[in-house]
Amino acid sequence: MKRRPFIKQLVKFSGGALLTSQLPLIYACAKPTQNKKLGIALVGLGSYAGGQLAPALLETEHCYLAGIVTGTKEKESVWSNKYDIPKSNIYNYENFDSIADNDAIDIVYVVLPNSMHAEYTIRAAKAGKHVICEKPMATSIEDCKKMIAAAKNAGKKLAIGYRLHYDPFNDQMMKLGQNRVYGKMNIESSFAFNMGNRNQWRAKKALAGGGPLMDLGIYCIQGCIYTFGELPTSVSARYTTINEKNWPEVEGSIDWELTFPSGKATCSTSYEKQYYGHLTANTEKGKLMLSPAFVYNGLRGTTPDGPMTVKPVNQQAKQMDAFALNIINNSKILVPGEMGLRDNYIIEKIYESANNDGKEILLSNLPQILDLRKI
Ligand code: NAD
Repeated sequence: MKRRPFIKQLVKFSGGALLTSQLPLIYACAKPTQNKKLGIALVGLGSYAGGQLAPALLETEHCYLAGIVTGTKEKESVWSNKYDIPKSNIYNYENFDSIADNDAIDIVYVVLPNSMHAEYTIRAAKAGKHVICEKPMATSIEDCKKMIAAAKNAGKKLAIGYRLHYDPFNDQMMKLGQNRVYGKMNIESSFAFNMGNRNQWRAKKALAGGGPLMDLGIYCIQGCIYTFGELPTSVSARYTTINEKNWPEVEGSIDWELTFPSGKATCSTSYEKQYYGHLTANTEKGKLMLSPAFVYNGLRGTTPDGPMTVKPVNQQAKQMDAFALNIINNSKILVPGEMGLRDNYIIEKIYESANNDGKEILLSNLPQILDLRKI
């Protein structure tokens, strides 16, 4: 569409409400016209891929579910029928690398157990695909670094599945916290649930890398960092597992404290307690709080001025659309691989402290990366 007729149409559709003086700005901000949505292939069709990501991909504007990678033959036809996925876009773990020849797939989304993230992210990058990798990025810092290097060498983008950076409640928390709207603060955050079935990969060290700290506590770490808008300088931690015999491989529960330049954050996580998840800043003017803070729907926010009144969104759809736009516009990712590395580094130091009776550990080599918001 030529510029002039496009502007005329905008004025017409706005019922004249748009002043012509506003038009250059609106025109400049318009999203680029796209010929096609980017194709995403999900790797690992478990509960998160099936329950959240695939349904969200029916709501996305800039990407869609184009392919799947699964080790379970029966899932192929089920997913193919449900999401209209052609046979040519279905892979298993053995033939996965041939995805390199498939132009319908632009992005590979790794939704496997934690210890498999590194292998599939690196293979996807080598196949020339952009990658979203679920949290926690990997089970070691060394793997995180290899994943970042693989994406860099391939000239592809790598994001971590940190959906809450696209959630409007957490966005409010970041803005109000980072701008110190309610003055100085200390933060408390907890995330726990009671894991009934301990026979799953989450309880196995080789697959999970660790216990609830890697799975749930990572949300608390993230929440404290993005509410302060600062990086922690040291950590101290203690295991608080209630039933040791239930957790031979990973911790059942753990508490930790992070020191930030302008305050403290006290956190806990557990696989042994009833469900709860909150992020609370105790400010000079009262509580700034999300509770529940880390769920997909039904978040609630409170400020010293009253409840947050933001409108909920489909977090996963927003997150995947944002990554697709990062690719289309070649723009900066809010949650890049380096942020995943940062969080894995903090997790490693929390375990180091807990293994040394709560000794304070300095976070001297922490990657300097923050998601800073402006009001
Ligand atoms: P899940 O157990 O439901 O699914 C795991 C999938 O991996 C299954 O399809 C399974 O068949 C496959 N798999 C392949 N090899 C496997 C092996 N050796 N052992 C076990 N499973 C194997 O797990 P999930 O809850 O979907 O979690 C997958 C990843 O997504 C994890 O990294 C988790 O941390 C992450 N996750 C993120 C969110 C979020 O909100 N961002 C939510 C849930 C899970």
